[in-house]
Amino acid sequence: MGLNKKSVDDINVKGQKVLVRCDFNVPLKDGKITDENRLVAALPTIKKLINDGGKIILCSHLGKPKGEPKPELSLAPVAARLSELLGQEVKFAADPEVVGPNAKAAVEAMKDGDVILLENTRYRAEETKNGEAFSKELASLADVFVNDAFGTAHRAHCSNVGVTEYVKTSVVGYLMQKEIDFLGNAVENPVRPFVAILGGAKVADKLNVISNLLEKCDTLIIGGGMAYTFLKAKGLEVGTSLVDDEKINYCKEMMAKAEKLGKTMLLPVDTTIAASFPDPIDAPIEVSVVSSDAIPADRMGLDIGTETAKLYADAVKSAKTVVWNGPMGVFENPILAKGTIAVAKSLAETDATTIIGGGDSAAAVNQLGFGDKMSHISTGGGASLEFLEGKELPGVAAANDK
Ligand code: ATP
Repeated sequence: MGLNKKSVDDINVKGQKVLVRCDFNVPLKDGKITDENRLVAALPTIKKLINDGGKIILCSHLGKPKGEPKPELSLAPVAARLSELLGQEVKFAADPEVVGPNAKAAVEAMKDGDVILLENTRYRAEETKNGEAFSKELASLADVFVNDAFGTAHRAHCSNVGVTEYVKTSVVGYLMQKEIDFLGNAVENPVRPFVAILGGAKVADKLNVISNLLEKCDTLIIGGGMAYTFLKAKGLEVGTSLVDDEKINYCKEMMAKAEKLGKTMLLPVDTTIAASFPDPIDAPIEVSVVSSDAIPADRMGLDIGTETAKLYADAVKSAKTVVWNGPMGVFENPILAKGTIAVAKSLAETDATTIIGGGDSAAAVNQLGFGDKMSHISTGGGASLEFLEGKELPGVAAANDK
């Protein structure tokens, strides 16, 4: 398929001011960055622009400051860590207005090849409303705009969409390109067999993803909490498991759709059950494994069972493309993480192209140490899901066409 958008390779920014929207929305604990994947993923674009001799003005949001300065959500720690990763100073343009006197002065003082980072764009209430004034202020800093924030691409905000209306040139960065290439090729042009694995808590969160992927894949595997609504739709007793009664008909439709299209849909054949949801979530818990048609009325399904883990791993073995989004069980609890681990392991061992759709599944894969065994781990959970739904991402659409 390929992305029909101009990229940083199509422009020369020598001596120009370049505003780069990155996704530096990293987890912080006591002012320390606990997962820097998103920073590392942003480096190729930044380095390219430095080598070109541009004046690089980075911006991003961090968390949800709700439109006002919140010191604990300042991007200052990101500037410090980025300086180390780049081996060059990333000056932090502290400014409660994001584009206020301090930021403007910092931009004025820049030389070719310099890098600065603006304050958290969500310190401004207009940001998430895609307001005109803040979009113009951001655009006034730069000659060229580069969007490399895949994690925000499913939202239309000032710093990734509004700003493009007021700069002449808007292109995408390498990370954005890579994300769209991997996800786009997997869905539109997969090497077959193409196996899609969906898990996570609720069917309702992934309605359109299920429907769209059924059309594209050869086998759709369902695990996690959402599996029980499907099992109930098949007429099985699911005890006290998570069920969305309003979506039972939808699940029936999807099973009928799979049959009509000649697609394989795999549901758990056995399930790991307990008396109740673990509290706290990682507390020791007594479990047993039963066939999916023998879940007692007073028991709750909290992970796929051992036979199911084997069945799913086998389906992955013969695949050439695998896309995975959402855990197979309550993976936060070691006793209920076995299904998720088995699936992660089967992806780590296959030669197929393996793509992890961000969020919990990405965290699980990284935690298990399988990160470098995957072809691609998306930096955007929500954005990758909307992409898998077949939606156009506003952050991508706003860039100039080739
Ligand atoms: P991703 O982040 O990869 O996109 P997700 O965040 O969409 O996945 P969610 O829908 O948020 O996935 O679901 C993840 C949560 O689902 C986990 O916290 C997990 O504990 C929970 N979960 C998984 N299986 C079950 C189950 N059988 N019963 C209840 N909760 C479950």
